[in-house]
Amino acid sequence: MPKPTQAQKRKLQSALLDILKATGVKLDHMEESVLLADHDSLSDDSDSGGGGSAREFQLGLIQNEDDILQEVRNAFKRLEEGRYGRCGGCESWIPIRRLETLPYALYCIECQEKFENGDLHLDD
Ligand SMILES: [Zn+2]
Repeated sequence: MPKPTQAQKRKLQSALLDILKATGVKLDHMEESVLLADHDSLSDDSDSGGGGSAREFQLGLIQNEDDILQEVRNAFKRLEEGRYGRCGGCESWIPIRRLETLPYALYCIECQEKFENGDLHLDD
């Protein structure tokens, strides 16, 4: 697999920036609504049933967004270190098609599958 060209890397970098912006905005908004939900439950004790699961669902979403943010930050770090586009498992270049779909992909498809099955063992 050839390494990404400068032009491809620039495109992927701006895709990463877009994700960062989109995720950041969504995250702010959700944290705000969870804080508001907290405030509601403090001021209204009479209605103690029901609301909990919706809040848990929202916290789950934030966790998810947080994970993506972390992945994107890691991708920027790899860009700085010149390791961007290399698979974190087998060190081969991740196909450009995969990076275009998932700019913060850390693994090639084979290693991603191994990772998800718990079969990926990194020797570091
Ligand atoms: Zn790999």
